[in-house]
Amino acid sequence: MSELAYPYEAPASQALFDRATAVTPGGVNSPVRAFRAVGGTPRFMVSGTGPYLTDADGREYVDLVCSWGPMILGHAHPEVIAAVQEAVARGTSFGTPGEGEVALAEEMVARIEPLEQVRLVSSGTEATMSAIRLARGFTRRSKVIKFAGCYHGHVDSLLASAGSGVATFALPDTPGVTGAQAGDTIVLPYNDLDAVRAAFAAHPGEIACVITEASPGNMGVVPPLPGFNQGLKDVCAEHGALYISDEVMTGFRTSRAGWYGIDGVRPDLMTFGKVMGGGFPAAAFGGRADVMGHLAPAGPVYQAGTLSGNPVATAAGLAQLRLLDDAAYDRVNAASARIRSLVSEALTKEGVAHTLQNASNMFSVFFTDRPVRTYADAKEQEAFRFNAFFHSMLASGVYLPPSAFESWFVSAAHDERALERIADALPAAARAAAEATA
Ligand code: PLP
Repeated sequence: MSELAYPYEAPASQALFDRATAVTPGGVNSPVRAFRAVGGTPRFMVSGTGPYLTDADGREYVDLVCSWGPMILGHAHPEVIAAVQEAVARGTSFGTPGEGEVALAEEMVARIEPLEQVRLVSSGTEATMSAIRLARGFTRRSKVIKFAGCYHGHVDSLLASAGSGVATFALPDTPGVTGAQAGDTIVLPYNDLDAVRAAFAAHPGEIACVITEASPGNMGVVPPLPGFNQGLKDVCAEHGALYISDEVMTGFRTSRAGWYGIDGVRPDLMTFGKVMGGGFPAAAFGGRADVMGHLAPAGPVYQAGTLSGNPVATAAGLAQLRLLDDAAYDRVNAASARIRSLVSEALTKEGVAHTLQNASNMFSVFFTDRPVRTYADAKEQEAFRFNAFFHSMLASGVYLPPSAFESWFVSAAHDERALERIADALPAAARAAAEATA
């Protein structure tokens, strides 16, 4: 077993991590889980219930990651589990159409007015990859505009200047992506409409689509400035390009109709994942029926998936969406507001410069006193303070995203007891942030 890097590290997690590292690159199946940015050993979780996770050493944490968004009702919600058990008992995959996928699509379409048709896939990455292919097939153009700091999954052409793990590890551009794949991607600064207009002027008739996170959460939470999304939509419409709103993170989380329910800007295409899968691999893309009609078998743009619309995943997603009524969103929003004010209070008390930004109930703390509008702004924060803050919270039993460039997520299950545990952990963490050195 390797030496413990932190005094309070968990030996059972460490032993599992050692085993994992032998058989899996970096010991994890998704990079941000590895704690590389914050240091120390990733916790191997064995169970979750409501707002809590329990690790392999038997320690319980208040979970502020919620599986990176999906678990908006908390872990092991009894009604979601019952729906899954009922579905799984009937068989796990048929490779045929089934009623569950129709019902899930109907629920989504009923919630989001511009979503006329949806196609189910298994991950957010597949959703954005397919939406881009469809936009290119529909417009018969090749170029795509994306924004620095926005993450749309690990799609080859969308990894340039991406957020999430790519931001966390300060990776430049990913080896393995060819010039041809990246060459059709135009990366622009976020919240900069002039840059978008200039790109359209420089590439007349070549831009198939603009893809943007509906409200970015992968460089930390950096909401669109007022009018930005509408401006994108207008520029796209003016130039015959499609406006793709990536709601993988915000969809069915920021409101019952996601970010569309907040800003009301009508995308041509949208992408979804996370909450709509109820903790299972279900994701989707959809939008205008005339555009979606270009997808196989209705049209010529090919897209497919062995497990797309999987009956267990759709049962979980449907159960979760049906439970997400106004009262559930009120609970998530209230818990988020309370945690934000507790964090700000604790950091202010210790004199730590910070900016708390939120998009509805998604939020993150930037260790800077300046507002963060772009990826460049986000990178200027004192991330080393976050690392000290993170480890202090972890030691006190609060599990934060192990990166200064990620949104924090809360659930409707974050009750008074969970909030008190966060409140109790914060003073020491704020002190640790204040004392941290680069
Ligand atoms: N788009 C956004 C906005 C995301 O936040 C993510 C994942 O975090 C993705 C796409 C990719 O989704 P997945 O990890 O399910 O492939």
